[in-house]
Amino acid sequence: MEITVAQKLDALLKLQSIDSQLDEIKKLRGDLPEEVRDLEDEIVGFETRISKFNKEIDALDTEVNAYKATKKDSEKLIQKYKDQQMNVRNNREYDAISKELELQELEIQLAEKRIREAEFKVRNKQTEIADTEGAMNARKKDLEVKQKELNVLVAESQEDEKQLVGQRDKQAGQVEERLLNAYNRIRDNSLNGLAVVMVKRGACGGCFNVVPPQRQADIKEKKKIIVCEHCGRILADVEGK
Ligand SMILES: [Zn+2]
Repeated sequence: MEITVAQKLDALLKLQSIDSQLDEIKKLRGDLPEEVRDLEDEIVGFETRISKFNKEIDALDTEVNAYKATKKDSEKLIQKYKDQQMNVRNNREYDAISKELELQELEIQLAEKRIREAEFKVRNKQTEIADTEGAMNARKKDLEVKQKELNVLVAESQEDEKQLVGQRDKQAGQVEERLLNAYNRIRDNSLNGLAVVMVKRGACGGCFNVVPPQRQADIKEKKKIIVCEHCGRILADVEGK
């Protein structure tokens, strides 16, 4: 059985009514859902930064340990050379060992310098972590407050919303797909969420531009789906008169 245009318009009007009620519920929540999402994103950003700093600190610690090992090796060599120096047979041997000793002393100085540099970097990163954590904790407190507010609002309307969402799914199933897509598109582009409106006092109920009498007559006939030539909303019927 063919569905008439009047039936299609009726189904769309019912869908619009459900969606408008859902819009009202969302309006009550205001910007809170978005604010909560933004704060959550920000906190994730802080966490990423902290974990990056920690990885850099780990790399620096590894570097420090490597230089400490180098230092220890040089110290052992120095001890060995000093022992050898006690038992040299001539000046040439003594000088050769002295050169080796000097070389290892330099190695130690270089390692100590590198260790100091790395430790300085570690301290800077630790400061940055502490600052980031401070900022993050402030955001977490903000989030907690906003989340609580939102939870209260959601709890108040949760049941209604659930029912409406169920009704919406059912009603959307009553509308043919092509028409439903058009409806959703118009709704997305409309600030007040209205895709289907009535003609009220000779004007489009969505944008309030005048609808000419002949067009009103066509709308009342419901032979085809007519949209407002100004805003593109579907004009379901003419109210009153
Ligand atoms: Zn309009």
